[in-house]
Amino acid sequence: MSRKPRLLLNAEALVDNYQLLSNRSTTETAAVVKAHAYGLGVDWVVPTLREGGCQTFFVAYPEEGVRVRGLAPEATIYVFHGLSPSTLALFHAHRLRPCLNSRESLELAAGQRLAPAVHVDTGMHRLGLSIEEVAETALLACVPSLLMSHLVASDQPESPLNGEQLAQFSDWASSLAEPIPRSLANTGGIFLGPAYHFEVTRPGIGLYGGSPDPSCRVPVRPVASWHAPVLMVQKVRAGETVGYGASWRADRDRTIATCATGYADGLLRSLGNRWCAELAGASCPLVGRVSMDLITVDVTEVIESGYHVGTSDWVELLPRQQTIDDMAAAAGTVAYECLTRLGQRFDREVTSSVAQV
Ligand SMILES: *Cc1c(COP(=O)(O)O)cnc(C)c1O
Repeated sequence: MSRKPRLLLNAEALVDNYQLLSNRSTTETAAVVKAHAYGLGVDWVVPTLREGGCQTFFVAYPEEGVRVRGLAPEATIYVFHGLSPSTLALFHAHRLRPCLNSRESLELAAGQRLAPAVHVDTGMHRLGLSIEEVAETALLACVPSLLMSHLVASDQPESPLNGEQLAQFSDWASSLAEPIPRSLANTGGIFLGPAYHFEVTRPGIGLYGGSPDPSCRVPVRPVASWHAPVLMVQKVRAGETVGYGASWRADRDRTIATCATGYADGLLRSLGNRWCAELAGASCPLVGRVSMDLITVDVTEVIESGYHVGTSDWVELLPRQQTIDDMAAAAGTVAYECLTRLGQRFDREVTSSVAQV
C-alpha cells in the first residue's frame, strides 16, 4: 500500500458543533450539506448529523439531494438552486423540496405539492425573488413550507446590512395572511442573535469546524485533520534552494522533509513559505512552493532537538492550535474555500475522537 495523505474526520466534533449551533437558538437547526458537505464527505456527514438529531438538509443541486435522500430516507431536503421543467421529475421522485427563486419556478410549482421554500431577495441580488415580485396569491398557490432569505454580511456583525435585511424579511413575512415557517440565518446569522433565528436556521461552515471569516471566529471544534507522510529526508546546504522557482533559499545548513500532499489535495498554493506543519509537537515551516503532490518542510529544529525524522513519520497540516480559519487567513481566503478544495485522493477515515497517527 502506498502512503497517501490522510484526512481524519472527527464525527464527535461534527455532532458537538451541531449541538452548539442548536443550543444557540430555540428553533429547528437544519444542516447545509452542499458541495459534498463542504468537501468533508456527505456519506458520513449526513448519517452522523441524523444521529445527532438533524432532520432537515439543504443542498445546492437536485442530484446532491438524491444522494442525501439515499442516506436519510425520512429527512426533509431542500434544494437551493430551485426548480426547472427538466428537474421537476427528480424533485417528485425523491421527495426533494425546491427553493423557488424566480417567478417562473413559482408558476411551475403551483399545484405540484412539492412543499417548496420561497426564497426572497433582501439584498444579496444573487438568487431569490424580489419582495415586490412575489404576489401573495402566486405564493400561496404553491403551498410553501418555508420562507427564506440569505444574509449578505453575517460575517460582519457590525454591518448595518444585517439589521436592514432582518427588518425587510420579517416585515414581509408578517404581512402575509398565513404564517409560514421562516429561515434567515446561516452560521454567521445564528451568532447575530435570537432575532435572526426564526423557525429554522441553516448553518454550514460552523458544522465543519470553520468560521464565516477569519476575522469572525465562532467557537466550534475542528472536524478535519490532515496528515502527510514523509517520503524522504535530505540535507540542503546554506545557499541552496528548494522547490519550483527557487522561492526559498537555506540561510544555513538545513534538513528538509519532502511530504506527500499538495495542491491536488486542496492545499492552496499560496501557502508556500506561509504555513507550518507539525511534527513531533514542533512547528515546521513549509519552505518553497507547494507542488501538485508534494510539499517540502523544514525539519531542522525537530532534528536538532534530538528527534529522528524518517520515512515512517507524518506531518500534520491542521494541528490542534492551527485551525482551518488560520489556514484560510494565511492563504488570504476563507475556511469555505480551504474545505471545499479538499481533494479526492486522500485516505479518509472517520473517527469518533481525535486520533493520532
Ligand atoms: C451555503 C448557504 C448557507 C450556509 O452558510 P454558512 O455560512 O456556511 O453557514 C445557508 N444558506 C444559503 C442560501 C447558502 O447558500
